[in-house]
Parts: sequence; structure tokens; C-alpha cells
Amino acid sequence: MSEQISVNDVHWMMGALQGIDVGLIVVDTDYRVVAWNDFMENHSDIRVSNAVGSNLFELSPELPSEWLLRQLQAVVALNLPVYSTWQQRPYLFRFKSYRPITGQAAHMYQNITFLPLLSTTGEVDKICISIYDVTQAAVNEQNMTALNKELMKISRTDRMTGLFNRGHWEEMAQREFKRCLRYGHISTLVMFDIDHFKGINDNYGHQIGDEVIKATAALTQRLIRESDMAGRYGGEEYAVILCDTDQDGAEQFCERIRREVEALSLQFDDQSVSFTISLGYAQIQSSTGALETWIKQADAALYHSKANGRNCTHRYDPETISLPG
Ligand code: GH3
Ligand code: MG
Ligand code: MG
Repeated sequence: MSEQISVNDVHWMMGALQGIDVGLIVVDTDYRVVAWNDFMENHSDIRVSNAVGSNLFELSPELPSEWLLRQLQAVVALNLPVYSTWQQRPYLFRFKSYRPITGQAAHMYQNITFLPLLSTTGEVDKICISIYDVTQAAVNEQNMTALNKELMKISRTDRMTGLFNRGHWEEMAQREFKRCLRYGHISTLVMFDIDHFKGINDNYGHQIGDEVIKATAALTQRLIRESDMAGRYGGEEYAVILCDTDQDGAEQFCERIRREVEALSLQFDDQSVSFTISLGYAQIQSSTGALETWIKQADAALYHSKANGRNCTHRYDPETISLPG
């Protein structure tokens, strides 16, 4: 017995399948509709009496006619089934999505199968189009993708400041470090730390301390370029990679942010809080060796600023600044 489905088989099957929750259309090779089941009638508002005998393309003028014609021609030419999933094309017929649980979907998502039906002489003389309502699966998958994106963002971000967290910043820094060494690009790493922050916590309380940390992050975010990478490196310590920026450019950036922080006066009810930061930076060299070294250099320059009165910027210079360890 042949494994392929004959037109006679489809005839009684169509009777049996009238009530199922899948759209079934059979067209002949001139694309005239010969069968249109209950599902199609209910969702399209086209009665079976109007559908049968009409040309499919004229019956539903909003169909993607070029694409649909290609699929139908392929089925006839190849005598093989053709499938289309909702990811490739969300739907063939724009039907409303009625299921309450999938209320988020504006329309029904559909998987489509085009099946060749053979005449008794073995030629394709009809095509069966099956339309599966896969709205639930599509919505689930879309929700999952959105959730994963959100989780990814959360896992990269420091909650308090919205800057990259240390782990993600280090990953990005590693990438930038390698890029610079491979292509001879010049980037500069900046570290800075709020001065006498323990005093801010002690005098104004931790909540205001947190606001100071956030305000410094927001100011940093405002001053960097889109290609730069700013992270919260520790409690009140920040790390920024200024991409394609040499040490003179970095000096300008550091002094700008230092002055802006110095000029800042945060208002909390009847209290105003002013504070300063100390900064250090190191331009990458072909001899830098490892990201850890680059970070240590900027950090050593920062501590040089701490040791030299705070509220100032220093450049890493191996002649005058020694690395710890
Ligand atoms: P220095 O000028 O030498 O940097 O002095 P400092 O007082 O700022 O010293 P240090 O950087 O060592 O102190 C950081 C303090 O920041 C210690 C810790 O209690 C506080 N801190 C760390 N994380 C947070 C935070 O998320 N919120 C608040 N409010 N305080 C924090
Ligand atoms: Mg500090
Ligand atoms: Mg600190």
C-alpha cells in the first residue's frame, strides 16, 4: 500500500476532521478551494459555501500572495510537503487570538503545512494546507526570550547604580585589553574613589551615603561616551575604560568629572552634601602584559592621588609610582 495520501482518503478524512482545532484547506492546482473546514469558517468568517469554488487568492486578498504562490508551486513541482513555522512567518491568515490565556497576542500564531495530494494516476492535483494555532507556544517562547534578556541585563548590572557590576566590567575590560593588544589600539583605564566616604556615612547615614554613590555613578554615565565602559568596582570605587582614548584625553576626562563632583551639592531635606573624588589612570602599553597589571597601574595612580591630598588626578608613571606586590 502506498504511503502517500490519495484524494479519496482526504475526502472522508475531511469529514472526520471538520470539528478539529486545525485549519484545513484543500485547493486544486488552479488554487480553487475544494475544502474549507469549520476551523477556517469560524476564524475567517468566510462560509464554506462562499469558499468552495473560489480562487484562494481572491477569497482572501490580504494573504501574502507572492510567498503563498511560491510554497504552492514548490509542493506541486517537488511532490513534497512544505512547512512554515511561526518563527519564519507569524501567520498565513490574520486571525484574532481568542484564547484568554494568550490575551497578550494580537493575532493567532500559526505553523503551516502544505501537503501534496495525489490523483489516482499519481500526479499532484490538489494541495492540503493545514493551519495549526501555536499562539500559546509562541507567546511562551517570546516571554521566555524577554525574561532571559532581562535576566542577562540584571546579571550584568549593579542594582544600586545601573553601572556594570564588577564581574561584567572585568569581562568587558578583558575583551578591550585583548583588542588593544591585537590591533595596537590605545585605550586608558581610569579608577576613582570617593574621598573620606566613611565620614559621609558616619555624618549623614548610610542612606545618604547610597545616594552619593548613585549620584557619582549618574554623573559618570553622563560624561562617558557610548563606547566607554563604566563599572562599580567596589563600594564607592569606580572603574572606567575610555576606549580609543590616550592618556591626555583621559586626563581631560578625569579632571572634568573631578571638577563636576566637586561642584555638586546634593540636597536632602535641610542638609546639603558635598564631596570629592580621587582619580588615577593608566594608558595601555604593549608591555602591559595582563588586565590585572593594567588595573593595578590605574589603582596605584589613584592611591597616589589619595596620598597627595585627595581631590586630584594622577597618571600612572613607573618612574614615580610603584605597583603593589
Ligand atoms: P578614602 O578617602 O581613603 O577613600 O577614605 P574612605 O573613607 O572613602 O575609605 P574607604 O574607601 O576605604 O571606605 C569605603 C567605605 O564605603 C567603607 C564602607 O563602609 C562604605 N561602603 C561600601 N559600600 C557601600 C554602600 O553600598 N553604601 C554605603 N552607604 N556605604 C558603602
Ligand atoms: Mg573612599
Ligand atoms: Mg574605597
